[in-house]
Amino acid sequence: MDLGLKFIRAAALVLPVLLLLAAVSDRPALAWGDWGHLEVADEAVQRLPEPLHGLLADEGALRRLKAASLEPDRRVEELRKAKSPELARERVKHYFDIDGITSEPFPFAHFPRDRRAAEKEFGKKPFEEHGTAPWVIEDAEAALVDALRRGATEEIFKWAGEVSHFGADLHMPFHCTKNYNGKLTGNTGIHKMLEIGLLVRHKDFYAAEIRKGRAPVPYVEDAEGRLFDWLIVANSRAAPILEADTAARLKTGYTPPEKVEEADKELDDVNSARAKPYYAAFKSELESRGQPEAAALRDAADHVAQLFYTAWVRAGKPAGLTAPPTAAAAAAPPTIAYWWLVVPTVVLILLSLFRRRPVKG
Ligand SMILES: [Zn+2]
Repeated sequence: MDLGLKFIRAAALVLPVLLLLAAVSDRPALAWGDWGHLEVADEAVQRLPEPLHGLLADEGALRRLKAASLEPDRRVEELRKAKSPELARERVKHYFDIDGITSEPFPFAHFPRDRRAAEKEFGKKPFEEHGTAPWVIEDAEAALVDALRRGATEEIFKWAGEVSHFGADLHMPFHCTKNYNGKLTGNTGIHKMLEIGLLVRHKDFYAAEIRKGRAPVPYVEDAEGRLFDWLIVANSRAAPILEADTAARLKTGYTPPEKVEEADKELDDVNSARAKPYYAAFKSELESRGQPEAAALRDAADHVAQLFYTAWVRAGKPAGLTAPPTAAAAAAPPTIAYWWLVVPTVVLILLSLFRRRPVKG
């Protein structure tokens, strides 16, 4: 075969793989950044009814839960640093680009909620690329119920942290669309500009927003169905945010730095003079569109609270986060050990009494 032809054939095989790798590697892994995740976990606990609120709201418990809510992003970071082949599988847990999987338009009424049914309809491949978030949350919720039932404290915090993290991710509009970084609409960089850039510049504002509209927390009958309802609403919030970004860029002439390191630095640098006018304009453009980003954060906290409450009810409303003492296997051995000591002691005393008698006589 001609060498040139061979090269073209090889390139045709390799190019799609390289393009896919490039698409995957430029995808921001975080949602809401650390600050947002901590706020969602905290507010979810504050919304819980007693006595569950009391179990999770004391300082030690809340600190533990909040730390656990950051773990999924830490895992991604570690796998990335280690260049682990597990990275791809871990990343897809954080999102669900429903409009990348189906051509059905919003509100995706016919999209199968059940994983097996969805894989039957679309095959497994789209979910390896576009995410598995709702089913990851469903599994974490089941694990949380099981841990609560057994009073397995370590696991309770681990799984509550996972529910909180992935539950918050599911409400982040750019975790629910194939236009996850705004590339398809000329809004490149929007993902982190929303979840980090905007939030770190207005922490007080969003901390107050997330606490608004507290309401009694309902039991969720059909968690799988509700998770899809929530992510579809999140998907619909991407459009007004993109519009606000476009308007703010036009108004201020701002574009985020092209180099990732520079862009990341500017996101965190709340004093950056270059970015300041843009973020002020972005926030006011969002305000004139009803603040879909604040509603997303608020819903995230409210819905994570619903998942916590539902898990606790399904576990039989345990009174504590440790194994109840009556059921503890550990309670039995000391009693047995005690009787094993008492019986030989009595026998020894009796034996020594009988032996002394002949000596006396
Ligand atoms: Zn995440």
